[in-house]
Amino acid sequence: MSEKRDYYDVLGVDRGAAADDVRKAYKREALKHHPDRNPGDAAAEAKFKAVNEAYQVLSDDEKRRVYDQFGHAGLEGGAGVGGVGDVFAHMQDLFAEMFSGGGFGFGGGGRRQARGGDLRMQARLSLREAAFGVKREVTVHAPVRCDDCSGTGAKAGTKPETCGHCRGSGHVSNARGFVMFTTPCPKCQGQGVVIKHHCKACEGRGAVEKARKVVVTFPAGIDAGQRLRVPGQGMPGPMGAPPGDLYVELDVEEDKRFERDGADLVTRCHVSFTDAALGAEIEVAALGEASTTDAEPTVTLKIPPGTQSGSVFTLKSQGIPRLDGRGRGSLIAVVQVDVPTALGERAKKLIQELDEELRRSADEAETAKARAGGAK
Ligand SMILES: [Zn+2]
Ligand SMILES: [Zn+2]
Repeated sequence: MSEKRDYYDVLGVDRGAAADDVRKAYKREALKHHPDRNPGDAAAEAKFKAVNEAYQVLSDDEKRRVYDQFGHAGLEGGAGVGGVGDVFAHMQDLFAEMFSGGGFGFGGGGRRQARGGDLRMQARLSLREAAFGVKREVTVHAPVRCDDCSGTGAKAGTKPETCGHCRGSGHVSNARGFVMFTTPCPKCQGQGVVIKHHCKACEGRGAVEKARKVVVTFPAGIDAGQRLRVPGQGMPGPMGAPPGDLYVELDVEEDKRFERDGADLVTRCHVSFTDAALGAEIEVAALGEASTTDAEPTVTLKIPPGTQSGSVFTLKSQGIPRLDGRGRGSLIAVVQVDVPTALGERAKKLIQELDEELRRSADEAETAKARAGGAK
């Protein structure tokens, strides 16, 4: 894998460049390396793509912040650069403006280097692992390049030979009347080469099925449904070409104590009827980084007298760390007031007394209000 260039260098702007300057630099660089102006120039095409990738990140406040903080690595996770489709949609926007009227096609570029297919797999993390990040070894069951033949499929000491049927082009043409039909070569299946002596280990496929371990680093703040790319861990490329990538889709286990809402955690806490009436300090479940399951941390929450069931209290920075490193979300405590059940004789009597007292003081307040109104 080649090292990626710094996005600011690619556009030739300072790290502190304003959005408008980034846009201007992009126009200048994109025009310079545009394929229409440099037909058949592979280096220009590569530069053009790099310029677009850089602009896609630096023109987006969120992505730029992530990039400033973590560099290219930060963009490989969920908040990363979108697919190729995004790049093209982006370019079409800008270029519609720059080449008004003229058609803008993307065909005719250099031939894509063949590479192995991508692999997809699922990983399941606990809420804590997703919140604080974890390194996890995953097992990938997939073909790997055959070592015996270095992926060529040909027996040791031999090489795949140019297909005689298609002379290595991979396709054959047949004339039917005046029309020429081109089809993939049936003898080499379009590969352009044939293997006379197959490698025994892989029976000529160039790859063998194997379970292999890949260490995946899940960043803190990752959430269910997000996808991580692990470069170079996909299928081996045909005929020794580079491998594809591994995509790990994330699933997060439910946690009985919390519901996740982005970077916020919602938890329900029970408060006794007397604590709610008088006010109290209560302990609220919190998400701790340590993985001891028996001693879950709590945070103290002060609830005022007269707290109602359903009241919501927000504890800042006690939620989930944000993926881009900008602090943590909030812990949101939703209060549920528990009405006592199974009352003893004395408790029942006290509550009846309390009831009488509350009615009396409510009446008094009512009378006082009426009097105050009449005196006006
Ligand atoms: Zn052939
Ligand atoms: Zn082999």
